[in-house]
Amino acid sequence: MAIKRSEIIKCTCGGAEFSTLVTLIRHPGQGMSTKVSGYVCRMCSEKVDLERESKLAELRRRKAELEEVEMEIEEMETQNS
Ligand SMILES: [Zn+2]
Repeated sequence: MAIKRSEIIKCTCGGAEFSTLVTLIRHPGQGMSTKVSGYVCRMCSEKVDLERESKLAELRRRKAELEEVEMEIEEMETQNS
């Protein structure tokens, strides 16, 4: 299996810098805490759909793998004929 490489996630507008969004959570009697709730593109202000982006990246990786397999099949078939 191929080594999984890290990759920079880009917005659909092409921007690659994001601002962090946080949710503020108040705990009665214990103050407040924050939780990262998402990222906003610095170029177009669109919120990044992380679930969609990671699924897309995974699908692209599988597509590339599939293309490799197809090439291998093609190679083997041309060898036999
Ligand atoms: Zn953007």
